[in-house]
Amino acid sequence: MVNPSGPPVVLITGASRGIGAATARLVAARGWAVAVNFVSDMSSARALADEISADGGEADVFRADVSDAAQVAAMFTAIDERFGRAALRGLVNNAGVVDRAARVDEMSPDRLQRMFAINTLGSFHCAREALRRISTRHGGSGGSIVNVSSVAARLGAPAQYVDYAAAKAAIDTFTVGLAREVAGEGVRVNAVRPGIIDTEIHASGGQPERAWQSASLIPMQRPGRAEEVAQAIVWLLSDQAGYITGALLDVGGGR
Ligand code: NAP
Repeated sequence: MVNPSGPPVVLITGASRGIGAATARLVAARGWAVAVNFVSDMSSARALADEISADGGEADVFRADVSDAAQVAAMFTAIDERFGRAALRGLVNNAGVVDRAARVDEMSPDRLQRMFAINTLGSFHCAREALRRISTRHGGSGGSIVNVSSVAARLGAPAQYVDYAAAKAAIDTFTVGLAREVAGEGVRVNAVRPGIIDTEIHASGGQPERAWQSASLIPMQRPGRAEEVAQAIVWLLSDQAGYITGALLDVGGGR
């Protein structure tokens, strides 16, 4: 099963659909083996891995709720067993959720716990496990981490989801701090900040038409496509961005 001279492996969290799935397709076409993480939609994750394999790439699926540190650790062990511990070179912290539009004075403690557990702590849990494999400090060969933040981190998302925006702002600070912490250990850490992208995340927050309804708020007058965000993620992941670390790259059509 394990091929020591195989392709570099990247774990993409939340890759069963949307930006994660688009990133998986693109990075596989660039020669990476892909660990496709999902939490609930096994059939979509499996179909994506099968599609990548049918196109000549390599991919497998790994279930874990990124907010659960034990599940994350078990997922990394499973990835080690599938591809070899030394093969891991990349992590895309993409899994994320929104909730219903609400004001802060309406937000329950449970909602806030979930928002920060998945969107912020999940990225810490995955980065910790990845660094133990890729950092030269731990005997690794180096690699790259790309975090998926949001332009909401600087806009604040008032009357929509200030909790989500704050959780993503924490990702921005996490990116800058971690980048500087591990810059001498062969690991680059960057973030993309998507604007309004046409994916199913808006339906999951009770606003299925949000992407196109928001077009007039976007200087380019249209929502972005998942594939357009994937291009930025894959570039930051790649050696082409070899001198870039701690960067926050907006992919927001000018928003
Ligand atoms: P999406 O279509 O709703 O997909 C979310 C993905 O995350 C799914 O694959 C889902 O897996 C996974 N996921 C959810 N909770 C998880 C958990 N606890 N553990 C592991 N995986 C989990 O979202 P998207 O629009 O592609 O967004 C991807 C990232 O971009 C998110 O971080 C989001 O905040 C960010 N972003 C999106 C936009 C936008 O407008 N779309 C804008 C800015 C930033 P299952 O299918 O298995 O449930």
